[in-house]
Amino acid sequence: MLAAIRAVPRHIFVDEALSARAYQNTALPIGFSQTISQPYIVARMVQALLGDAEPAGRRMKVLEIGTGCGYQTAVLAGLVRQVYTVERIAVLLERARARLRTLRLQNVHSHYADGAQGWLSYAPYDGIIVAFAPRSVPQALLKQLAPEGRLVIPVGSGGEQRLLLVQRQGEHFRNSVLEGVSFVPMQRGLG
Ligand code: SAH
Repeated sequence: MLAAIRAVPRHIFVDEALSARAYQNTALPIGFSQTISQPYIVARMVQALLGDAEPAGRRMKVLEIGTGCGYQTAVLAGLVRQVYTVERIAVLLERARARLRTLRLQNVHSHYADGAQGWLSYAPYDGIIVAFAPRSVPQALLKQLAPEGRLVIPVGSGGEQRLLLVQRQGEHFRNSVLEGVSFVPMQRGLG
């Protein structure tokens, strides 16, 4: 996990004026009232997504919702087989695509859409990771999870969000709370 974080140059994902702060363990603004997540939280979420048997991640097809600047996308691309990522703000998505091209990542596919609906065309996913907080888990995401799939998602409103790991076992979904977190709220429709 640490090697995957080390392999991604975080400064290229933020504005040049902020690049001196790119390697601090903090969230930073990326425009449109959105933030690049704190590296610790990216690592925590990705690790929960992969589970204990980390090499298993190499075979996973993962859906990321909330591409933002593309930083977490790049970290995921180094660890899993395919990354499908969805963003509702066109300008953020274009900038993220340009950065991901610079890094020559071959296993990233991106989509401009409201991610609350997931990305049906490539479902089911072995893992789904969400970078913003809805008030409750969107049903569409549960439906797009593979039978043994894992969903990592912050849920709640205001300062009361909890980071959840939802593990699907056939038709059963087992929830566990990982920790208290503070994410931007989910937005509806296209930005
Ligand atoms: N992991 C990203 C986090 C970006 S912040 C990074 O490190 O940059 C959360 C992102 O989720 C924002 O870009 C926001 O536009 C996006 N978002 C919010 N609601 C969304 C929705 N319904 N569908 C898709 N993206 C959404």
